[in-house]
Amino acid sequence: MLQIELTDAIKSLKKIKAKKIMIQIPEGLKTNTENIVNELEQKGYKVITSMDPCFGACDIKPTEAKQLQCDAILHIGHTKFIEKNNEKIIYAPLKYKLKNFEETKNKITHYLLDNGFSFIGIVTTAQYLHYLPELKKHFKKNKIRAEILKGKRVENGQVLGCNYSSANGRAKTILYFGDGLFHPLGIHFGTKKEVIIFDPILNTIKTLDQEKNDFLKKRFLLIEKAKTAKSFAILVSTKIGQNRISIAEKIKKELEGAGKKVFICSMDYISEEKLLGLEVDALINTACPRLSIDDFISYKKPLLNYNEVKYVLGKSYKNYKTEIIY
Ligand code: SF4
Repeated sequence: MLQIELTDAIKSLKKIKAKKIMIQIPEGLKTNTENIVNELEQKGYKVITSMDPCFGACDIKPTEAKQLQCDAILHIGHTKFIEKNNEKIIYAPLKYKLKNFEETKNKITHYLLDNGFSFIGIVTTAQYLHYLPELKKHFKKNKIRAEILKGKRVENGQVLGCNYSSANGRAKTILYFGDGLFHPLGIHFGTKKEVIIFDPILNTIKTLDQEKNDFLKKRFLLIEKAKTAKSFAILVSTKIGQNRISIAEKIKKELEGAGKKVFICSMDYISEEKLLGLEVDALINTACPRLSIDDFISYKKPLLNYNEVKYVLGKSYKNYKTEIIY
């Protein structure tokens, strides 16, 4: 069960003396918009809800907030990601409440003991962070050493978007407590460590082996297709946490040096529909890596991450690393 807790956020809004706020809500939580707005209005705030898609903590809209004369942004569902920012932004992360955490702890512990793991790193997303200390204690009772590291710009043990720095400790195996494959793949390819996934929604535990191999096959296939391309569009997002125009310009030069025709295309939210009519053979993504890792299938043309361009230009796959971490 997902809990949206606004008490701390409201305290922070009071502290910065905000009166009119713009709220940003991730796509999966938009059905809660009315409740959130009602709660804030009852506390006396004027509220404007941004309905533009919002997929991560890197997606902050200070220009819109200013245009709408709001004196703060309330960003729901994520923790702080962008460091240098003068805007007044309050984050209201979410907590997920599991039905039976006792059972969960035992299930993971048995799996680790049965498979001979005595030292592991644990990471999770913001929704499950509150479970890590108890999990670590339970492991200790069962003679499993657990490392919960504070990464760069995140909480202890947190993976945030494409920031996997909490997995960079001494443990050679990482237990990822969370759903989806984007984070475990990112951890594996970013750190070269083995990853065990416990999915609290499906209540399953497994290693990443099969998915890792499938992922590599798909990436190599896309890169091979892109090698035959004569023209490329480099996609640049204007979202403040995803804008990599200098990288785009560098890649443009490299591809042009190899005789390719290259366009740099900018937009806020990147989607296949916005590219209709653009006659290029392949796409290079410099924005959110999830686009090319999770969503590449929605694009008609091969969509690569910018750090895969070196393979298009001939580098061997021997040490292939997507570097989908920052
Ligand atoms: S760039 Fe993408 S994965 Fe990284 S924080 Fe932003 S939305 Fe999340």
